[in-house]
Amino acid sequence: MYQYIVNVKVDNSDCVIIRSTVCVPYPSFTFRPKKPTPPEIPTEQPSPDRRETQVPVMREKVDLLAQKLVRIKHEQDNRLFPMLHVDKDFIDELSVPWKDALIVKLSGNECGFDGMKRNLDGQWGLAGEFDLLDIGNGFFVVKFNSEEDKTKVIKGIPWDIYGHHLLIRQWTQTFNAKPETIEKTMSWVRIVSLNLVYHDESFLWAIASAIGIPIEVDLDALRVERGRFARVCVEIDMNKPVVRSVGINGEWYEVQYEGLCVCQHCSCYGHCLRDCTYRPS
Ligand SMILES: [Zn+2]
Repeated sequence: MYQYIVNVKVDNSDCVIIRSTVCVPYPSFTFRPKKPTPPEIPTEQPSPDRRETQVPVMREKVDLLAQKLVRIKHEQDNRLFPMLHVDKDFIDELSVPWKDALIVKLSGNECGFDGMKRNLDGQWGLAGEFDLLDIGNGFFVVKFNSEEDKTKVIKGIPWDIYGHHLLIRQWTQTFNAKPETIEKTMSWVRIVSLNLVYHDESFLWAIASAIGIPIEVDLDALRVERGRFARVCVEIDMNKPVVRSVGINGEWYEVQYEGLCVCQHCSCYGHCLRDCTYRPS
């Protein structure tokens, strides 16, 4: 592991991540550090294919309030509920190192950092390295060093660890790793027997948008499975019933979720028809 966090209990501007020979500012999400362990000192040089992109230089310390990039307002005029309103461009700037990151969590199970790192290493078998950050409550941020590795992970969905489904979602600026955070995950879905006329990447992206947040269209499936089904990757909300069919100009097509346990009765994730509590007895 070539990354560790120092000086965690300070404001975000002082909190940095040291990775190999570069320093990056820690982003603005809530972070709950693991129990302290002695940091590993990297002994080998980064591999030549390691991407040098998106690693900003250390920011100069500035007065964000004076520059009106951050304004403090109090909810209901109560000083105990200060709310910081942050300039959008400023957050976008801070987000640069993280915008391609993924957030992972084991469904229904909390996995420690070492176990998660070991299992992801073993299962993903990536060519390059990835950085894993424990952000608390079972959530981890994964930052890949190559786009190819990230694509490989997304293409390989679903992943299971210890028999638990690995939830994978995109990193967002507003993500907050609190316990009640709604679980979202990426899933590959099949649109079964879709009319050949709709086997078009742009159109499938539109279909994916009707099912969830579109992530990727499987172009291989377009060529190989042409006619049997079309395949798209979408991010879905696990706490709501999933879309089971999609209509196009009046015709309905079945939507199947690969590797996800979705109830046939209530369309919810996490139980089968037999265990459905919404099913009339
Ligand atoms: Zn059900």
